Amino acid sequence: MVYKSRMTPDDLAFDQRHIWHPYTSMTAPLPVYPVVAARGCELELAGGELLVDGMSSWWAAIHGYNHPRLNTAMKNQIEAMSHVMFGGITHPPAVALCRKLVAMTPAPLECVFLADSGSVAVEVAMKMALQYWHARGEPRQRFLTLRHGYHGDTFGAMSACDPDNSMHSLWKGYLPENLFAPAPTCGVDEDWNELDIVPFARLFAAHRHELAAVILEPIVQGAGGMRFYHPEWLKRIRAMCDREGVLLIADEIATGFGRTGKLFACEHAGIAPDILCLGKALTGGTMTLSATLTTRSVADTISNGEAGCFMHGPTFMGNPLACAVANESLAILESGEWRTQVAAIESQLRAELAPCRESPQVRDVRVLGAIGVVETHQPVNMAALQRFFVSQGVWIRPFGRLIYLMPPYVISPDQLARLTAAVVNAVNDPALFQS
Ligand code: PMP
Repeated sequence: MVYKSRMTPDDLAFDQRHIWHPYTSMTAPLPVYPVVAARGCELELAGGELLVDGMSSWWAAIHGYNHPRLNTAMKNQIEAMSHVMFGGITHPPAVALCRKLVAMTPAPLECVFLADSGSVAVEVAMKMALQYWHARGEPRQRFLTLRHGYHGDTFGAMSACDPDNSMHSLWKGYLPENLFAPAPTCGVDEDWNELDIVPFARLFAAHRHELAAVILEPIVQGAGGMRFYHPEWLKRIRAMCDREGVLLIADEIATGFGRTGKLFACEHAGIAPDILCLGKALTGGTMTLSATLTTRSVADTISNGEAGCFMHGPTFMGNPLACAVANESLAILESGEWRTQVAAIESQLRAELAPCRESPQVRDVRVLGAIGVVETHQPVNMAALQRFFVSQGVWIRPFGRLIYLMPPYVISPDQLARLTAAVVNAVNDPALFQS
């Protein structure tokens, strides 16, 4: 069955009445736009309009949509097998993918756990840290993290998300209580300010004997505020963790695979974590798949503990279809073209978003790699702004006080110019900022 153009007003009414969308209300849902196809850097609406995509479907579709190489990889794999259990079985796509992941990530990371989504990769990482300490005969249950972080929507992951943004008050009594240091304020290209990390260092020192791990998003805090911070932060945290034997978990689910201008954001600081979480762009935005990588020493310690294994094994672990397309996505990255593409996007974003600074609505404009952020003083009127962007022929999904762009790496300069022009027009229209 081909669904193209088959979105009737009745379908949309059904959607509003019966289908939850991310972070929406069932009684007052925000409007949704019917997309029937996506090609390259464009989304096609049911009415035939084409929108230039500024979101890469939340960091994922780095090579653009409907990519012939990714499609072929999936079609070929379907002919062999779409899925087979991973318990007691292995298969070529999983082995090939894990080989690539071990080769491309920082050297000490060499054991791979494949899971279904970013949130699950974070759960896996946190469980690994807990099992690691249990196996050492010194159970530890606390994680230290940064305010304004975001790690996913499952309970373990949420327990490390910013307590206000993820409304910890709703889950009080159920959610584990972790430690939160103030978020970095020293920007990625500012001079290093020694004072910035003092509250973190104090918290770390006070709790160093109970910390299972520090968990953070390296360099870019994504959904918790689109904040970019100084690499010295990471170097210092790595050194503190080394000194005390505390594990460091880097959540590169958003930043991984070139988005920040480096293949992995940890490279900005020249550090490697003990546990690394990957997802989103892993399959080029085609299928859901994530990976949690650890050092040999973490893997061995867990395996020699009481359970004698790592206690996790999802049904769709190592899904062959997802692994096959991830392999192809990584093969595209291996050509190295992403480096020039991301660098070109970065300089165009810097030049073309700069005029936003003139608008009284705007508090800050920042760019890193293929990420451009315009932070406003007031929360945006999401529905009005979304309608405005669609009328301008672009797909940009703002939230809170943030209007941001993270286009596919293959976007053309003309397409990117349409995105930036729409953002500049938006911040110069006061009507869009009234709730
Ligand atoms: N960690 C980070 C840094 C993320 O940006 C996200 C997704 N926005 C997640 C974890 C969770 O990934 P998923 O939505 O695939 O569960």
